[in-house]
Amino acid sequence: MSVNVNNIYFGLGSNLGNRLQNLRDAVRMLESFGHVVKASDVYATLPWGGIPQPDYLNACVKIESEGRFDPHEILRRVKDFERELGRVESVRWGARKIDIDILLIDDVKINSPELTVPHMRIPERMFVLVPLGEILPPEWPYPVNGLTIREMMSRLEGEAMPLRITAL
Ligand code: ADP
Ligand code: MG
Repeated sequence: MSVNVNNIYFGLGSNLGNRLQNLRDAVRMLESFGHVVKASDVYATLPWGGIPQPDYLNACVKIESEGRFDPHEILRRVKDFERELGRVESVRWGARKIDIDILLIDDVKINSPELTVPHMRIPERMFVLVPLGEILPPEWPYPVNGLTIREMMSRLEGEAMPLRITAL
C-alpha cells in the first residue's frame, strides 16, 4: 500500500573496498527518493557479530521526499542499490561493500517478514545511534520503547564508541 512519504532516515555501512566512496555512492542513489536534507559525519566502528572482517564505516542520512511510496517498494529499491553497488550475498553480518538500512519512514510502523520499520537495531547499536543522534535531536524518543537517543546510548555504555572520521 502506498503512503505519502515525507521523511526517510537511512543507515549506511561499508567495510569492503573504498568504503567512503561506497557510502557516498549510496547517498547519490538514495537521492532518487528525494533531497538529502541532513547527513551525519562518517564513523568508524568495529564489526559486530563475531566474524573477523575489516572495520565498518557508518553514516546516516535524512531524505525529504514528496512522493508516495509503498514501504516495501522502498526496500526493493534499496536492495537493488546494494546489488548495483556490488554487494555480494554472503553470510549475515559478514563483510559487505554496502549495507543500506531503512531506519525510519515518517511515523510508519511495519512488521512484515521482510521489513521492520522503525528498524529494530536502532536501540542496540552505537554505530546507528551515534550518527542518527547527529541528525535527530538527542531527546527524540524511539517510538518502539519510548527511550530517547541519549537514554539508549547511555544503556550501551561500555561498548566501543564509533570514531568520527570525516564528513559524508
Ligand atoms: P543487516 O542489515 O541486519 O546487517 P542484511 O542487510 O543482510 O543484514 O538484511 C537482512 C534482511 O533484513 C533484508 O533482506 C531485509 O529484508 C530485512 N530488513 C528488515 N527490516 C529492514 C529495514 N528496515 N531495512 C533494511 N532491511 C530490512
Ligand atoms: Mg541491511
